[in-house]
Amino acid sequence: MGKLFSISDKPMVIAGPCSIESEQQLSETAADLSRDSRIAMMRCGVWKPRTRPGGFEGLGEPALRWIAAVKRLYPALPFCCEVARPEHVELCQQYGIDAVWIGARTSVNPFLVGELAEALRGSGLAVMVKNPITPDISLWLGAIERIEQAGIDDLAAVHRGFSTYNNFGYRNNPLWEIPIELKRRLPELPLLCDPSHIGGRRELVASLSQMALDLHYDGLMIECHPDPDSALTDSQQQITPAELATMLDSLKLRSHSETGPGDLRRMREQLDVIDTEMLRLLAQRMKISRDIGAIKRAHNMPIFQPQRWQQVLEHQMQAAREVGLDEEFVRELTEKIHGESLRQQE
Ligand code: PEP
Ligand code: MN
Repeated sequence: MGKLFSISDKPMVIAGPCSIESEQQLSETAADLSRDSRIAMMRCGVWKPRTRPGGFEGLGEPALRWIAAVKRLYPALPFCCEVARPEHVELCQQYGIDAVWIGARTSVNPFLVGELAEALRGSGLAVMVKNPITPDISLWLGAIERIEQAGIDDLAAVHRGFSTYNNFGYRNNPLWEIPIELKRRLPELPLLCDPSHIGGRRELVASLSQMALDLHYDGLMIECHPDPDSALTDSQQQITPAELATMLDSLKLRSHSETGPGDLRRMREQLDVIDTEMLRLLAQRMKISRDIGAIKRAHNMPIFQPQRWQQVLEHQMQAAREVGLDEEFVRELTEKIHGESLRQQE
């Protein structure tokens, strides 16, 4: 078999349940997904590292046995699952799994990644490295390098978002600038997006997928379940195979030529990311303003306090000089933001 992960004009789509929950759920999902020629690989969680104890942690070996049986029915559909320990790698090999991924709670740990890399050496398994939960590009790069150094060349990176103090309405903050920088440093490494774990809500999967395609990602990994609401893990973010098919129909693939030469494209992508970040920060600022408004009302204080406004403006003028922005421009911008802030407090 050739490489499973490569860069092509057509992004690869990986889909499947967060976790395998029963033989029936697995075979039903596999039957649906195998009928859609756009699905390149099926994902299924067999071991689930849960942030807090007490949740469903996956069925382990029996689930692998079901995958092996299902694979006989759909020999053209490769299967992947998450590995978090060297023993998991051995079991995946034993049951003929095609690819594995290293999850965000594992890629954060260099010793564990090192042990997995040794277990993967010579295994023939293709490997995906999810970004670590912390927004640290070096840890992500380090995990990728450890896997590469074990001689694995069928490799991809998966962006699933980061845990930050404020995730801005996402389950995991996308921080698009980090995967964009990873792609700049490793242009030959396929980069996939996992909109399910970034968004955490099924309503966000389509727009996040489109964003990833607009940023020229090489593929998507999407959680898919026959009855999402009853899923034992990540029920809010999974979509049905039918919903997945409709969503894939709606996604627009932008051709590279539409957007000009590589450098221009990359710089425009960076501008888009920065613009979105600015809006998100503004939304955060307005929320704080509204909270302040409530406190002012409770204490019978006026909404507009000239002294405070003077301070804000001086602070911004000082900051403008420090970062080398035109003072008049920053004054106008600050007045606009302050005006909206007062409006929100009313
Ligand atoms: C998963 O893919 O189901 C998963 C647990 O992923 P992550 O490591 O991104 O949280
Ligand atoms: Mn999941």
